[in-house]
Amino acid sequence: MPELPEVETIVRDLRPSLLERSITRAELTHSDVLRGVSRPTLLRGLAGTTIRDVFRRAKHAVFDLGARRLVVQPGMTGSLLVFDRPLRDDEAKYAVLRATLDDGRLLIYRDVRRIGTLLWLDTKGWARYDAAIGPEPLEDAFTPEVLLRAVGRTRQAIKKGLMDQRLLAGVGNIYANEALFAARIDPSRPANRLSVEEYRALHEALVRILQAAVANQGTTLRDYRTGTGERGQFQFELLAYGREGQPCVRCGTRLAGTHAIDARITVFCHRCQV
Ligand SMILES: [Zn+2]
Repeated sequence: MPELPEVETIVRDLRPSLLERSITRAELTHSDVLRGVSRPTLLRGLAGTTIRDVFRRAKHAVFDLGARRLVVQPGMTGSLLVFDRPLRDDEAKYAVLRATLDDGRLLIYRDVRRIGTLLWLDTKGWARYDAAIGPEPLEDAFTPEVLLRAVGRTRQAIKKGLMDQRLLAGVGNIYANEALFAARIDPSRPANRLSVEEYRALHEALVRILQAAVANQGTTLRDYRTGTGERGQFQFELLAYGREGQPCVRCGTRLAGTHAIDARITVFCHRCQV
């Protein structure tokens, strides 16, 4: 699933060309991506609105349309793209949401397996949604103390704590693995047992890795594409995720892979992550 760097890349790519554009009409091929809104309500609501802003919150792209916000959570096979020409058949096939802009271009939410979701929130709904998500790791206000306060309360494994969107925004399996490897912390340790020093190291690693991933336009393992349809480049920088069985870049020990922590793959070095 696209994490913070991937959604940030999509949003940065789309934003300049969408600001202040109006949506003249919208079409939806499947309603199963909708959460808490019906197809007629969404389509009626979208038509005639102006895109005031496009930004990211956690792993979601948010379209500020004035009274309402369209929140897109791209699933593993989801992408947001703008076309200045009619869609080819293969492109149209998975275009779940199609919004026609006032300059004739098409804003598309494409999702092959339709595991992404679309939310349609009013001011109150947005406030509730926003309040349920933890702090943003790339904001200036995100300090080691904020990370400690957010994640350090839980007795869950630190890796689970990092990936819990209610505690911290935007981090999923790839970047949790990478940050814990960089900070030399065993992913299975209870989050409330880490020292202040370790939270400082983890904070430094998280921010540095997320920034580098954004600079590299995210990680493309399979389906993820940027807002311009390109592959990300951060997959070539990964030191832990996807490297189980390969030597640790620090000590040469064979990296271990386990599903024991949260049923997702955790890759770590027995020797230098303690
Ligand atoms: Zn090692």
